[in-house]
Amino acid sequence: MSEYKSKILVIEDEQDIREGIVSLLEDQFTVSTAASGLSGLKEAIRNKPDLIVLDLNLPDFDGYQVCKSLREEADFKTIPIIILTAFNESDDRVRAFDTGADDYLAKPFSNAELISRINRKLNVVKDMF
Ligand code: CA
Repeated sequence: MSEYKSKILVIEDEQDIREGIVSLLEDQFTVSTAASGLSGLKEAIRNKPDLIVLDLNLPDFDGYQVCKSLREEADFKTIPIIILTAFNESDDRVRAFDTGADDYLAKPFSNAELISRINRKLNVVKDMF
C-alpha cells in the first residue's frame, strides 16, 4: 500500500475551529489552511488539495463565492467541497449546493461526523469488522 495521504485544505477564519480541525485531521491527512476566501483560493491553486473544507462566513469572499470560483476552474470542477457553517436554514443549504458544494455540515459539528463525511467523499472505506 502506498503511504499517500490525501491533501485537505481547510478554509476557516476562526482560529480555534481551524486549529481544532487541523488537529483532528492531521494524523490521517496532509492538512493545509487558509483564514480567508482569497487566501483559500490561492492555496487551492498552489496546493491542489483532494478535498476542501470551507467555512461560509469568511472576512472577504464568502464561502458561496469561493465555491463558485473554484467550480469555474477546470482543476476544481469535481473536487469534494464540504461546507461548514453556523447558518443552517434550508435556503442556506440549497444555496450551498447550487453553488457547487458536495456536502454541508452545521456548526457545532461532531468530529466523528466530519471525519466520516470526509472519508466518504474520498471513498475511504474503513475496515470495521
Ligand atoms: Ca467564519
